[in-house]
Amino acid sequence: MPTDTADPAPTAATTNTNDARDDACPLAAAGSTRPVRLKVAFLVPLGLAVVVLIGLFTHQTNSHVTAHIEDEARTTLRLTAGLYATGIDQAVDKLGTAIQAISRDEVLRDGLEAGDRAALLARAAPLFHELRSRHQITHFYFLLPDRECLLRVHQPDRFGDRIDRFTALEAERTGGIAHGLELGPLGTFTLRLVMPWYDPAEQNRRLGYVEVGMEIESLLDEIRQLTGAQLLVAIDKALLNRTDWETGMRMLGRTPEWTAFPDAILSLDTTAGLAPTIAEALAARGQGLLSPDDVTLGDGLVLDHGGRHLRALFLPLLDAPGRTVGEMIPVLDVTEDKNLADRLVYGSGGGALLIGLGLMAFFHRRVGRIETELEDNRRSLAHLAARDALTGLLNRRAFMPLLDQEIARCRRYGRSFVLLMIDLDHFKQVNDRHGHPAGDHVLARAADRLAREARGTDRLARYGGEEFILLLVETEGPEGLDIAERVRAAINERPFVLDQAVQLDLTASIGLAHFPGDATTADEVIAAADQALYQAKTGGRDRVVAFRPAAEPGGDGAPPPAAG
Ligand code: GH3
Ligand code: MG
Ligand code: MG
Repeated sequence: MPTDTADPAPTAATTNTNDARDDACPLAAAGSTRPVRLKVAFLVPLGLAVVVLIGLFTHQTNSHVTAHIEDEARTTLRLTAGLYATGIDQAVDKLGTAIQAISRDEVLRDGLEAGDRAALLARAAPLFHELRSRHQITHFYFLLPDRECLLRVHQPDRFGDRIDRFTALEAERTGGIAHGLELGPLGTFTLRLVMPWYDPAEQNRRLGYVEVGMEIESLLDEIRQLTGAQLLVAIDKALLNRTDWETGMRMLGRTPEWTAFPDAILSLDTTAGLAPTIAEALAARGQGLLSPDDVTLGDGLVLDHGGRHLRALFLPLLDAPGRTVGEMIPVLDVTEDKNLADRLVYGSGGGALLIGLGLMAFFHRRVGRIETELEDNRRSLAHLAARDALTGLLNRRAFMPLLDQEIARCRRYGRSFVLLMIDLDHFKQVNDRHGHPAGDHVLARAADRLAREARGTDRLARYGGEEFILLLVETEGPEGLDIAERVRAAINERPFVLDQAVQLDLTASIGLAHFPGDATTADEVIAAADQALYQAKTGGRDRVVAFRPAAEPGGDGAPPPAAG
C-alpha cells in the first residue's frame, strides 16, 4: 500500500491550498445547474388550490343555504297562497251549506214573500246566532226582488237601502247563486254568497234574495298561524272613500292612517311596524305597496330591519269582479335561518381554512426538508461534477469557464495573468515500474504539492492525465516565472514515498504564457502555454519555459529556460 509521509494531505490550515482547490462549486457559479425551488413549485399551487377550494366550498355552502332559505320562503308563499285559496273555497262551501239550509225553511220563504220583516227576524235571529258561532257567518240579508234590503239579520236597524254589490247584481243577472269577495268601506273583505229565491209554485217568480257573508280576517289569522309569517293587507285607496273609512276606523277604536302610504291603506298589519320599511324598499324601486311589479311571487322582497332578515312576499287580492284591489303581504322572518347559514358558512369555511393552513404548514416543513436535502445533493453533485476524483482538484470542464471569466475580467479592467501548464516528467515509467495504483498515489501527492504552492486566488486544475494547469491571477511575467520555479521545485524538492523501501524522485516541466502579452483568447493562451511546455520537454524537462512567439525565435522578453 503506497504511503507518502512526506506529503501529508493538505489540511484546513493550508488555506491557500484549500482556496485554490475547494473553490465553491464553479459549475454552479457558471450557471450550469439551478438551485432547487421546491417550496415555490409546490406551495404556491397548493396554496392557490386551497384558496380556490375554500372559496368554492364557502360559495357552495353559502349558495346552498341561501337557496334553502329561498326555498323555504317560496314554500311559505305557496302555502300562504294555497291556504288562502282553500280557505276561500271552504268558506264558500260553508256559505253554500248555510244557504241550502236556509232555502229549505218555508217560514223564512214566506216571510220574504210577504215582506214581513218582523216574522223574518224572529225566525232568522236564532238561526243567525248559530251560523255566526258555528260557521263565522257574520252577514245575513234578505233582499226584495229589486235588491232593496228587507232585513239585515246582523243589523236589523238598517234596511230599505238598495244593495248594488257585484254579487247581488250577478245573482240578479244570472238568476243563479253568485259569490265572491267584496271590499267593504272599511277596507276589509267580506266573502258573500247571494241566492235568488224562487216561488216553488211558480218557478220563474223571484221572491227575492238571501245573502250570507263572512269576513275573512279569521282566515288570514289562520294563515298567519299556520305559516309563521306575519301579514299585511294593503288595500287600494282609490277604491275607498276616505271619510267613510276614517269614520269606520274610529268607530272600531282604531287610529286611521290614510296618508301613511301614497297608494294604499293597511286593512291588516300584524308585523309590528314593518310596513314603512317595506314601503320604503318598494319606493326605492320606484314602486308602491300595490304595484310590486318585479317583486314576483317567487322572489319576494329581501329586507334587513332592526337586525332582522326579512322576506316579504306579495299576493294580489282579487275581488269578485276580478279586480286587483290590494295585496296580501306575508312577511317571513328568516333571521334564524340566515344566522344558522352564516354560522354554517363561516364555521365550515373557517374549518376548511384551518385545515388548509395546517396542510400548508405541514407541506411547508416537509417540502422545506426535501428542498434542503435536494439542495445539498445538488451542491455535492455540482461539486463532484467540477472535481477530479483522484486529486480533488478542479477538472478541465470546470476550469474552462473560470479561465473565460478571468479573461473577460482582465480585458475589462486591463489586468493580466499568467497560465502555467505543468506536466510530470516520464510519468509513464512510474506506472510501468510500480504499477498503476502507485502512479495514482504519486499523482495525488503531486497535486497536493502544487496546491500548496498556489495562492488563494489562483486556480489550479487537473488538465488531463499527469498534466495540470495553474492560473495565476493578477500576475505579470516575472512574478509568474518565480511562482513557476517554486512549483517546479515543489515537485522535485523531495522524493515521493511509495513505501519505506521505494522513494521516487520526480520532476515536472512547465510551460508559461502571459495574458495579454502572449495571447488574447482562452484557446490561444492555452496553446501558448502548451507550446512553451513542449519546448520545456524538448529542452530537457524539469524546467520552466516561457512562451516565445515562433515569429521571433530567440527574441527578447523570453527568459532562458530554468535549469532542471
Ligand atoms: P513526458 O515526460 O514526455 O511527459 O513523458 P510521460 O511518460 O510523462 O508522458 P506520456 O504522455 O508518454 O505518458 C503519460 C502517462 O501518464 C501515461 C499514463 O499511463 C499516465 N497517466 C495518465 N493519467 C494517469 C492516472 O490517472 N493514473 C496513473 N497511474 N497514470 C496516469
Ligand atoms: Mg509527462
Ligand atoms: Mg503528458
